[in-house]
Amino acid sequence: MSLPVVALVGRPNVGKSTIFNKLVKQKLSIIEDTPGVTRDRIYSDVVYKDYKFNIIDTGGIDAEKIAFNDEIKMQASIAIDEADVVLFIVDAKEGITSNDYIVRDMLKKSNKQVIVVINKIDSKQAKEHIYDFYELGFDEFVEVSGEQGSGFIELCDAIISKFENRKYTEKEDNRLKFSVI
Ligand code: GDP
Ligand code: MG
Repeated sequence: MSLPVVALVGRPNVGKSTIFNKLVKQKLSIIEDTPGVTRDRIYSDVVYKDYKFNIIDTGGIDAEKIAFNDEIKMQASIAIDEADVVLFIVDAKEGITSNDYIVRDMLKKSNKQVIVVINKIDSKQAKEHIYDFYELGFDEFVEVSGEQGSGFIELCDAIISKFENRKYTEKEDNRLKFSVI
């Protein structure tokens, strides 16, 4: 049986790569202030408690070259298709934007299991914005700071609670899932 797949999806600059790196505890993914520095989808695996899963970081947007919304949609839809669980990353520093609603609509159509991850909870603007995210219409929310590493136990517990009986054992196929686009 293949490993469960967890995809990080969200508009640029919300902190997907920062959260990805915290989850895999390596600087695999590139983090930068400019939206769109994660060129390709990046895969890694995470072991937590009795579980092992693949995570996918998405990005790859260069707003100057490609129509912004089309690129967001393409990246997100590939990752969503592959995913068992989607982490919908939103930014408590900036609050909801129209691109968050684009991602929300795609996720609603997909019928995948979604956890809304409210990132940048450390920022002073977070308190003003945090309740807005409940309007997105999902049931599950976890507050994290990717930068400070807070909320990750709650996040990992929420992720594995979606796997039901898919506990990891040595007999399972644990090869890294990899694709080149
Ligand atoms: P991505 O485009 O969604 O992958 O976002 P990145 O992970 O590249 O992060 C975009 C920016 O947000 C960078 O400047 C990060 O340092 C910053 N950032 C990420 N997580 C946090 C956080 O928890 N708190 C704060 N204050 N900034 C963060
Ligand atoms: Mg990124």
